[in-house]
Amino acid sequence: MLKLVLLGPPGSGKGTHAAQLSQLTGAAHISTGDLLRAEVDAGTELGRRVAGYQVAGELVPDSVILAVALPLVEAAAAGSGYVLDGFPRSLRQAQTLDERVPAAARADQIVLLVVPEAELVTRMLVRAGREHRPDDTTEIFGRRLSVYEAETRPVIDYYREQGLLREVDAVGDLDEVTGRIRAALEL
Ligand code: AMP
Repeated sequence: MLKLVLLGPPGSGKGTHAAQLSQLTGAAHISTGDLLRAEVDAGTELGRRVAGYQVAGELVPDSVILAVALPLVEAAAAGSGYVLDGFPRSLRQAQTLDERVPAAARADQIVLLVVPEAELVTRMLVRAGREHRPDDTTEIFGRRLSVYEAETRPVIDYYREQGLLREVDAVGDLDEVTGRIRAALEL
């Protein structure tokens, strides 16, 4: 059963590849960004609490994210597995995930999508024309990249120290990158 964390900077293709892997294996695709955007669009109380962080490119507080994500991870681990996309995104989230879910539910594969920064900006501009996300502007995207470096780099190091991290070159056409990810996961 796949229990995978897909890591990578904004614009590295996590959403696309997580969706593909979910289709391929039947594992649940858990995207905290998509979940929160749906709450914002639906105008729920949670949506109103997180909207300001999202549009500014800042991380939503760990306590809010953990309350949303942990039950989903546990449920998916009891079902057909999961691909985490955009979570965990801070060291506290990663540590809490390990502490709070039963050992059998913990992620056992971590893949980091590696894309140079200049390419990320180009991809964001393409996505901006297609998806109209309020945080896909040059200024906010720059902020998201800085937040990634400051908050999510430590997550990469955390998994690297555990010997779980595999890095995949995510530049190239979609099928090529898919092939590299599948090879890394032996799927
Ligand atoms: P994404 O769609 O993964 O790029 O996420 C978009 C935005 O949602 C981020 O810039 C954050 O504001 C928020 N977000 C998504 N996932 C998390 C998370 N795990 N921790 C904190 N904020 C998050």
